[in-house]
Amino acid sequence: MIIVNELALSDRLRAVALEIPIGSKIADIGSDHAYLPCYAALNGLISYAVAGEVNEGPFQSAKNQVEKLNLNDRIKVRKGNGLEVIERDEVNIITIAGMGGPLISEILEAGKDKLNGIERLILQPNIGAKSIRVWLLENGWELMKEHILEEDEKIYEVLVAERGTPLKPYNENKNQSGLLLGPFLMKEKNEAFRKKWRHELLKWKKIIEQIDQRAQNEDTVEKRKDLMNKVQMVEEVLNDEIS
Ligand code: SAM
Repeated sequence: MIIVNELALSDRLRAVALEIPIGSKIADIGSDHAYLPCYAALNGLISYAVAGEVNEGPFQSAKNQVEKLNLNDRIKVRKGNGLEVIERDEVNIITIAGMGGPLISEILEAGKDKLNGIERLILQPNIGAKSIRVWLLENGWELMKEHILEEDEKIYEVLVAERGTPLKPYNENKNQSGLLLGPFLMKEKNEAFRKKWRHELLKWKKIIEQIDQRAQNEDTVEKRKDLMNKVQMVEEVLNDEIS
């Protein structure tokens, strides 16, 4: 398929767009300028989209962008919180990109009643992907694919989920590392993955050092334990590649 390049899309959002099955009806929640649905419409990926925005400024930006590109017939820009902007069965794919994982999980949790006809979730957390993996696991969604990429010195993850067998991608003994690192990403261990987790390791070790230099209390002991667990988990996965 020829990709129309009228709208230059970031690599991050292109990674999301590439997971949209052709002919889909999508809801892009937190759409800001509606770049993603506009790109998807211009490239023939979708037949219909709802671009949802909770804030007035981004809502206006989305409306302007859709009008400018003459896409009003295919993209409906709506103001509202999370999934409240869609009717039941109006779309079959939901994309949520560019937010923290905890906020994405909250949006999914609050909008559970709108997920009935949804076949695929394409989620792009900037941080905290673990909370999304936990939510998917607890709510009957199977992680089908994961991507990790670096753009402008930031590292982004893309999670693709469909209804299925939520435990399937996880190794029974390694659920905790799978949830933190991503079951597919930790197998692939590409350069972006290694860079992200090496950076996190350094950060955590510095915090542990700082904790060790101060008087301990119940909270710091707990925090130290948690950080040590994570260090061990991540080191095990990163060191696998050497052994
Ligand atoms: N999705 C775009 C992207 O990936 O480039 C925009 C990301 S921008 C950082 C996050 C957007 O989500 C903001 O425009 C914000 O107003 C919107 N947002 C945050 N919470 C939201 C919610 N509960 N419902 C709808 N939009 C929300």
